[in-house]
Amino acid sequence: MSTQSAQHHHVFIIGSGPAGFTAGIYAARANLSPYMAAGLQPGGQLTTTSDVENFPGFPEGVMGPELMAHMQAQAERFGLLVSYTMVERVDLRARPFRIWEDGGVEHTADAVIISTGATAKYLDVPGEQEYLGRGVSACATCDGFFFRDKVVAVVGGGDSAVEEATFLTKFASKVYLIHRRDQLRASKVMQERAFKNPKIEILWSTQVREVLGNGAAVTGLRLAGADGVERALELQGYFSAIGHKPNTDLFQGILDMNDVGYLKVQSPSTATNIPGVFAAGDVADPTYRQAITAAGMGCAAAIDAERWLESREG
Ligand code: NAP
Repeated sequence: MSTQSAQHHHVFIIGSGPAGFTAGIYAARANLSPYMAAGLQPGGQLTTTSDVENFPGFPEGVMGPELMAHMQAQAERFGLLVSYTMVERVDLRARPFRIWEDGGVEHTADAVIISTGATAKYLDVPGEQEYLGRGVSACATCDGFFFRDKVVAVVGGGDSAVEEATFLTKFASKVYLIHRRDQLRASKVMQERAFKNPKIEILWSTQVREVLGNGAAVTGLRLAGADGVERALELQGYFSAIGHKPNTDLFQGILDMNDVGYLKVQSPSTATNIPGVFAAGDVADPTYRQAITAAGMGCAAAIDAERWLESREG
C-alpha cells in the first residue's frame, strides 16, 4: 500500500485522557508538532466524573470535563493538533509507523505515544448508567469522600473490590461487599483485612439486579440471593469493582502485554518493546490508575519520545 498520501507527524498520540494531553503539551513545547487521535471518548474517563478533588492545583476541586478541557486548551496553545477520530489499525513493524484513522485516513509517524486508557467494567444492570456520578462510581479513591457517614456497597470479589471496600470504611458508616460467589478471589491478606473490619458486611452469593434511585440520586439496590429471592437494600452509594479493561485491542499481537492486557513498559521509562513506541497512563498502569499518575507518565512519554528521536538524528 502506498504511503504517498499519508500525513506525516513526528509524534502521533493515540488517546486523549490526562496522559495523552500531558504528552501533547510536552511534545508540542519540544517542537515535535504532535498530532492526536482523541478516540471514542474525548477527554477519557475523567469526563464521566463530576468533582475531581485530588488533582493538585485545584484547592476547591474541579469538574472532570472542565479539567480535561483545560488540558486540551493548554496543549493546543502550544500546537497540538487534535482530531476527533478513532484509530482503526496500526502497523508498527517498520518505521515510519503507519496508523489508520476511521474512514481509512492514513498517517505516518516517527514516534507513537499510546494513551488509550482503560475502561471500568460495569455490571450492565438497569439504573447503573443512569446514576453514574450520582451515587454510582467505579473509583473509590476518586469519589469515596462524598460518602461520609453514608451507606455504600461495592460489587466484586477481587483485590480491587476488597481494597475499595476497605478504603470506603474511612468515610462510609457501613460498606456492603456484594459478591456473586461464596468465596472471594482477593488475596488472603486482603480478605483477612476485610473480614476484620467491623464496618464491612459481605453479602455472599448475591447478584445486583438493579440500581434504584429517586431520579436525582441512588437510593438502593435490588438484589437476588442464591435462591433467586429478591430484596431491596437501602444505600446511597454503589461502586462497581469488577475489574478494568485496558484499551489495547488495537495492539494485540503487536506489543507486549501482561496477562490481562496492560501494555508492558520498560520501567522506569515508558518504552514498549518496539523502539519509538511509548505508552502512558492507565493503558500501561494496572497499579495506580490516577489522573495525576497518568499525566506524569504522559510527560515522561513525551520526554522519552523526544530523546529517542534525537538519538536517531544525532
Ligand atoms: P479481578 O481479579 O478480575 O476480580 C474481578 C471480580 O469481579 C471477581 O471477584 C469476579 O467474580 C467479579 N466479577 C466479574 N464480573 C462480574 C459480574 N459480571 N458480576 C459479578 N461479579 C463479577 O479484578 P480486580 O479485582 O480489578 O483485579 C485485577 C488485577 O489487579 C488482579 O490481578 C489483582 O490482584 C490486581 N490488584 C491488586 C491490588 C493490590 O495488590 N493492592 C489491588 C487491586 C487489583 P468471580 O470471583 O466470581 O470471578
